[in-house]
Order: sequence, then C-alpha cells, then structure tokens
Amino acid sequence: MTPFDLSKRVAFVTGGNGGIGLGMAKGLAAAGATVVIAGRNKAKADAALAELKAIGAQAAFVELDVLKEASCHKALDQAASTFGRLDILINNAGTSVRKPPEQLTAADWHLVMDTNLTSAFFCSQAAYPHMQRAGGGKIINIGSMMSIFASSYATPYASSKGAIVQMAKSFAVAWAKDNIQVNAILPGWINTDLTRKAREQVEGLHDKVLARTPAQRWGEPGDFAGVAVFLASPASDFITGAAIAVDGGYSVQA
Ligand code: NDP
Repeated sequence: MTPFDLSKRVAFVTGGNGGIGLGMAKGLAAAGATVVIAGRNKAKADAALAELKAIGAQAAFVELDVLKEASCHKALDQAASTFGRLDILINNAGTSVRKPPEQLTAADWHLVMDTNLTSAFFCSQAAYPHMQRAGGGKIINIGSMMSIFASSYATPYASSKGAIVQMAKSFAVAWAKDNIQVNAILPGWINTDLTRKAREQVEGLHDKVLARTPAQRWGEPGDFAGVAVFLASPASDFITGAAIAVDGGYSVQA
C-alpha cells in the first residue's frame, strides 16, 4: 500500500460534476476512492459519472444546492449512509459576478459569498460527525489566485477566496484533535466553464494570463488530480492549515 492509497475511502466533491471538481474527482477515483459528486446540474453530472465509470470508479451523484444549509446536511448524510462512511470533503463549488464594486448589488454579493464561502462552512460542519466516526478525515477548500491577489472586477470573489483560506486554517486548528486535516488549494488560471465566461467578459484576459504564467499555458482540470490525492491521502497526515498554489508559477512571477 502506498501513502497515496485511497481504497476504502469515500470522498464528496461539491461541484464535482464539472471543471476542476471533476478533475479532482477523477484523481481520487484513480487512487481507489469511492467518489460522490454533488451539484445542481443533472445533465452535467450524468456526463461526469460516465467519465468516472469509464475509469472503473465507484461513483455516485447527489443533488446539492450549496446555497441551502439543509441541502448541504442532506447531501453529506446521504453520501455517508449510502457508502457507510465519509472521509474526504472537497469544498469546490464556486461562482463569480464580474462588475466594478460600485455596481454590485446586495444580491450579487450574497450569491458569491454564499456559494464560495458559506457553503464550505455548512458542508464542513455537515461532514464533521461522519469524519469523527471514521477516526479522522481530510477537508480541502478551493481558493484562488484571488486569495492572495486582488481584481477591480471581482470584489466578492476575492473576498470569499481570501476568507476560505482563513477558514481552512481555523478548522485545521479546531479539528486537529479529531485527526482531521484541513488545507486549501489555490488554482491559477484554469480552462473551465467559469473562465470561459471570464474570457468573454474581460477583454485581453486570455493573453494576459499566458504572458504572466511561467508554464506558458492555462491549467487544465486534470492538473488537480495529483494535489487532490496528496491532500486526501495519508501522505499529507502532518500537513494542515496549508494553502498550496497550483498555478504554473503564476503567483511567484514578479
Ligand atoms: P465550473 O463553473 O466548471 O465549476 C463550478 C462548480 O460549482 C459547478 O460544477 C457547479 O455545479 C458548482 N456550483 C455552483 N453553484 C452551486 C450551488 N449553488 N450548489 C451546488 N453547486 C454549485 O468552474 P471551475 O471548475 O473553474 O471552478 C471550481 C472551483 O475552482 C471554484 O471554487 C472556483 O472559484 C475555483 N477556481 C477556479 C479557477 C479557474 O481558473 N477556473 C481559478 C481559481 C479558483 P452546477 O453546475 O451543478 O451548479
């Protein structure tokens, strides 16, 4: 058995029905985990499940609206009762509203903060009793380059992504006694539905990202398979409260 082995582990990925979430779900499945992908869009989930099953994964879809606390509890409980345990939670669901701060409405603010940040709070709370019962667990929060940098068109997004890293640290400190490790991943610029929209809305974004990224390419969802396995596996048992950039060098480029 390698320190990266996830057989007998059950993982729950919010927004695992596409993009980075699906990239991580595939990595976890390849390492032996049973994977529950959770989201709203059933058609996307069916396609994602087909991809997971094609690589031999045990996988299921659970309906989840992270904007609703009750939905978070119901989905996590359903996953744990279907598969008998819950070991890994990836708080990946996210969205953005791109406007200058003076044009943002209260609804814009709450949509982004609730989808990106409050959801991770609800889902982590919902996962806690199941992880305690399992003797430990792994929680991975998805941050962003905007956890560390700012943008004139993404005030709520950057606020939520800064806070989700602080939230990971706080949970890490609180739940170390339960053998639960809580870490964050900070993706660079990755080719997904979210950034396809950003590239339509923000002029010059594609080339700006390419010029600043030392790896000279946009990231792909598959770039997150390895880091997800690492942070979900015994290989990272003494790592908690950390934030790991997966960005092709974007954040260290002067
Ligand atoms: P996608 O748009 O492909 O994925 C976002 C996912 O979030 C979707 O699968 C969506 O599921 C889910 N989601 C959104 N709202 C809800 C909700 N209310 N309830 C349940 N699920 C919801 O984009 P990415 O893969 O790019 O984004 C994944 C994460 O990575 C996000 O947190 C994003 O902020 C972060 N990130 C992405 C970067 C990038 O460059 N792409 C860079 C830095 C961070 P559904 O369709 O079912 O609603």
